[in-house]
Amino acid sequence: AELLDARLHPTEGLTRSGEAMIMWVARPSIEAIDDFAHDLVEMVRSLAFDIDGEQIALTASVGVLHLTDDLGSTDFRRARAAVGDALQLAVERGGDQVAVANEGAPDRIERMFEIDRLQGYIDNSQLALAYQEIVSVGTATRCCELLLRILDPVTGQPRPPVDLISALERYGGITKLDTWVVDEALRLTQTTELGDYDHVCLNVSARSIGKADFVEYVAMRLAEAPHLATKLCFEITETATFGDLDTISEFMSTVIDGGAAIALDDFGAGATSFAKFSTLPIQKVKIDGQFVAGCLNEPVDRAIVLACVNIARARGVTTVAEAVETDEQQQFLIDSGVDFLQGYLLHRPELVTT
Ligand code: C2E
Ligand code: CA
Ligand code: CA
Repeated sequence: AELLDARLHPTEGLTRSGEAMIMWVARPSIEAIDDFAHDLVEMVRSLAFDIDGEQIALTASVGVLHLTDDLGSTDFRRARAAVGDALQLAVERGGDQVAVANEGAPDRIERMFEIDRLQGYIDNSQLALAYQEIVSVGTATRCCELLLRILDPVTGQPRPPVDLISALERYGGITKLDTWVVDEALRLTQTTELGDYDHVCLNVSARSIGKADFVEYVAMRLAEAPHLATKLCFEITETATFGDLDTISEFMSTVIDGGAAIALDDFGAGATSFAKFSTLPIQKVKIDGQFVAGCLNEPVDRAIVLACVNIARARGVTTVAEAVETDEQQQFLIDSGVDFLQGYLLHRPELVTT
């Protein structure tokens, strides 16, 4: 540490972090910082010595993160993760190396960060499920959809998880979340007001349904609780059907064999679905909210809603219209023959009481 310290300017510093040292240096250019990092590697190498005639070599690995002068916007936790990852990369390259963060492995850095974040939410009980009613047109069947929420650590206020879900889908970690949701859905259906519903829908990511471990896990959980399984409906977003049809069908068959149902989410929003649709073993389609939003004023949206209803009917599949916000939309959807309605007009998502 003394040797390193001797190389620093008065405004710079260093601190120990586990087995590594973290230094912060201010230099006029990125090149100057890289030169500095390489000098450190050289310096450590030059410290080689011998004991009883045996050469002892010393190597150093340096991870570098360039910060801009706008330090106010720096997320230090993220910065530390990034520089740690760069260091790891330098070590993996064999030592005596300098690696710059974001140069070779930005994805790895992001992934580490997102999975950390999810684990933090799970450990701190910051994940929760809200439910939104799905109202039947003309029957007494009661359904609802479970929606993930993140609770603010201070106020306890729920917020939607869209950032988290897209990041986990991109960088990995979504299956851990989907597993948590499956467990919670089963637990809550048994112990809360959710038990009053005939069907409880839950969302699973397209990424997870292609994973053998996840499919097996779902099969096991459904087999353990057959009386609950018959209440569950797994919503799979329609973009999933762009993927490998065999794996998707396998997940769907597993769910159906387990006594639960499958809904195709965001129906109409993906182009190839109509062709593949006829081969998938599904019970429900959810007409995407964007078409509901346009169904009164946009002729194309209106036509898509009607097409969805017709196609679903031809297959004997139930339809649900999402994101119904006005009385006029509701009336149009009922007149069009939609079976179930969901949206702020009927019920705003609320946290399940636990
Ligand atoms: P989604 O499955 O299409 O869920 C419906 C979304 O529409 C929900 O947003 C819901 O709050 C919102 N919504 C309900 N009624 C209305 C309405 O009248 N108007 C409008 N504009 N929106 C309405 P949310 O909760 O933000 O969820 C967004 C997406 O995140 C979901 O879209 C789903 O794809 C995903 N998601 C939510 N929960 C989970 C989960 O537990 N697991 C996974 N893998 N994904 C989830
Ligand atoms: Ca959904
Ligand atoms: Ca949807």
